[in-house]
Amino acid sequence: MKRSDKAEKKRSSKRSLRSYVWLYFMIFTILILLLLWVFQYFFLASYYRSAKIRSVSNAARNITRRYDSADLKNLLKRTAFDNSMCIVITDNAGNVLIGENNLGSFSFLFHDLYVDHGKYIYALRSELADSSSGELTKTKKNEDYGSEEIFFCMSFDTAESDEPYYIFVETAVDPIDSTVSIIRQHLIFITVILFELAFIITMFISKRLSQPIVDMTETAKDFAAGDFNVEFDAKGYKEIEELSEVLDKAKVEIEKVSKLRTDLIANISHDLRTPLTMVKAYAEMIRDLSGDNPEKRNEHLNIIIDEADRLSNLVNNILELSKLESGNMELNYTDFSVHEKIHDVLTRYTLLIEEQGYDISFVPDEDRLIHGDADKIDQVLYNFINNAINYSGENKRIRIKQINKDDRVRIEVIDNGCGISKELLPKVFDRYYRGEKVKRDVVGTGLGLPICKEILKKHGWSFGVKSEEGKGSTFWFEAEAVPAETEKSE
Ligand code: ADP
Repeated sequence: MKRSDKAEKKRSSKRSLRSYVWLYFMIFTILILLLLWVFQYFFLASYYRSAKIRSVSNAARNITRRYDSADLKNLLKRTAFDNSMCIVITDNAGNVLIGENNLGSFSFLFHDLYVDHGKYIYALRSELADSSSGELTKTKKNEDYGSEEIFFCMSFDTAESDEPYYIFVETAVDPIDSTVSIIRQHLIFITVILFELAFIITMFISKRLSQPIVDMTETAKDFAAGDFNVEFDAKGYKEIEELSEVLDKAKVEIEKVSKLRTDLIANISHDLRTPLTMVKAYAEMIRDLSGDNPEKRNEHLNIIIDEADRLSNLVNNILELSKLESGNMELNYTDFSVHEKIHDVLTRYTLLIEEQGYDISFVPDEDRLIHGDADKIDQVLYNFINNAINYSGENKRIRIKQINKDDRVRIEVIDNGCGISKELLPKVFDRYYRGEKVKRDVVGTGLGLPICKEILKKHGWSFGVKSEEGKGSTFWFEAEAVPAETEKSE
């Protein structure tokens, strides 16, 4: 099975983002409902009972704390009313000092006091005496009303007596069956609504989340098929917008590389084909026509040699550039004199100056040592000067100018030739860019300036070009100068 088939199979067994969102949201809803049912339905009775127990003990403690205050009666009334309680306070001998009943005839304590002469209260007191905590909580079924009564009693000290007083608080835990059944109905209702809502919301959310991804995948598929006109413009949320921006940038880069590749192949093959055609044509000419005529034959052979040179030049440049770009080129740093370097380079052009009337001169500043790879700088100077010669047209005046700066030496190669148009100026250092109007007799590969760029970049030096169409161009770079003290000591 092919790798792509395997990946396809693996992918198809995976759930979609939509179903994941749906699934998780549903699980979340079920969990919420479960919690609601457990707390509201199953634990309600015990929760209610423990809340009641807490409320009696809290009420009793609150009253005992404020027993000596003036509004005790009010406090008792309010507490009994708010919490449906019966509250009785007795002295140590069992005499009722104050009492409040809000349970009506339900109240067991009340009944006990008036009918059974406080028998139960005595029983509670003796049980309290046995308990170590000083407090007692008791529950008792009220058979008459089917409710459960909660009793709480504790002793407390007051300012008015040396002996302890006792507080008894009673409340009823009413049966909550009817409440529970109402809650159950509510819960069923809520469950149905929540499920429906969850279903609709998840459908909406999952579509909102997944749709931009689905759209983007479609666009990416077109892009993968080679359509560079696609646009990744997914909107909706931050992450997807960022992703589409990144993909758009990647698209531009890939498009550039792809164009460069096709251009490069087209240009290289064009430049290879032309000299090859010439070589073939002149070789045939020598075979068929000029083989016996030494003069003609030599002329034709020279053309073949020139074309072979052009070919090897092109191949060398391609190799050089790819070496430079891959970062495999090590610079061989030395300190060398600017004057010597430029004079040395210019000697190679003597023939051109003498025979073709070029006026190439050096405008020096004070001599300085520069720190760089001498051979590579040769290459840059040759490229700049060759271009100046090739594109200077009828005006054959070329200046090489040295301008000393603090820690740099600026070298300018100035021509008064055809110049470069504004639109094309930013591209001249680009790989394989050649002016459209370049004549065939100009031996160029369109790789000269990119090579210069790589060399100067590797040195970390700044460089550039100023040009005006019809007026000429100035190609420059600023080399790192050796500091003056070091120069002297050497
Ligand atoms: P080429 O081998 O074609 O000279 P380069 O990389 O050296 O390649 O130059 C790229 C292009 O830049 C040239 O084809 C030409 O159009 C333009 N160019 C370079 N130098 C000059 C110059 N001094 N004057 C005008 N145009 C220039």
